[in-house]
Parts: sequence; C-alpha cells; structure tokens
Amino acid sequence: MGNRISSDYEGKELILVGVLKGGFVFLADLMREIKIPVDIDFISVSSYGNSSKSSGVVRIIKDIDTSITNKHVLIVEDIVDTGLTLKYLKEMLYTRGPLSVKICTALDKPSRRKVHIDIDYEGFTIPDEFVVGFGLDYSGKYRNLPDLCILKEDAYS
Ligand code: 5GP
Repeated sequence: MGNRISSDYEGKELILVGVLKGGFVFLADLMREIKIPVDIDFISVSSYGNSSKSSGVVRIIKDIDTSITNKHVLIVEDIVDTGLTLKYLKEMLYTRGPLSVKICTALDKPSRRKVHIDIDYEGFTIPDEFVVGFGLDYSGKYRNLPDLCILKEDAYS
C-alpha cells in the first residue's frame, strides 16, 4: 500500500489525514512505508459512542489544523463499516478546495455498507464481526492489543 501511494502521489503535495482515535496505529505503520514527502494531520469524529452499533450520526470533535486547499488529501481510517463516517468526511473535506480526496483503510466490512463509498486503498476485507485491537476499541478499551481480535458477542450484547 505504501509503495502504491508513493508512486501514485509522486511529485504531488499530499496530506495524510488520520481519523482518530482508531486510525492512528495504522497511520503510524503506513506513513513509514511511504517514501515521498507527506504532511500528516488528524481529525477526530464520533461514530459509535460507547456501543458497538453505528448511530449514523457523525460529529467532528477535532478538526485538522492544516489548510488542504490545492493539496491532495488521503483519509486514513481504521475500518469502513456502514460507510457513513467516510462519506460525510469526504464531502466535508471537498468543500475546502483540495485537488483530490481519497480513502485508505486498513479494514473493510463491505457486508454492512449503508451508503456507497469508493475505497481507493484497502488492506483487508473482513466479515461482519466486531473487532478490537490494532487501534480499534470497544468502549475505549483494547486499542493497545497488538493483534486484531474478534470481540465475543457476550461482551457487548
Ligand atoms: P462507519 O461510519 O463506516 O459505520 O464506521 C466507521 C467507524 O466505526 C470506524 O472508524 C470505527 O471507529 C467504528 N467501527 C466500525 N466497525 C468496527 C469494529 O468492528 N470494531 C471497532 N472497534 N470499531 C468499529
């Protein structure tokens, strides 16, 4: 993925926008595999609150500090589930005049999609399971697990 991004954006001004909190572990790994100069920024959005089900409501908790006008933006996300978060984020960032906004995700759960969203760089497709670890949480916990784990249903049902 890092190699593809490096060649696709060669000679272009690229800013990686990590989606907090879950995306930071993946972003930390990914950015070290990108061999061209890049800017890094973070945006924080609320998605599931304290439950394991999407509310469909997206709220910006922390915005990026950097201007993205006339720059290429790559949103770096941990997982795409319903697609609601990224659809909203992509449309919101486009209003700021970037040259492009593309999406990179470590994980994809396509079976749960509610809205169509083009994913430009994707790590792994996973089944409809709630996963934790590698930056992903349940109620704020388990982000520090080095592996990606399926959370047992009785932990949240
Ligand atoms: P979407 O808007 O695509 O439904 O949700 C995206 C966000 O929901 C992700 O950034 C992540 O925070 C959360 N999410 C979706 N699926 C999972 C999952 O299996 N495990 C965890 N921990 N979070 C998830």
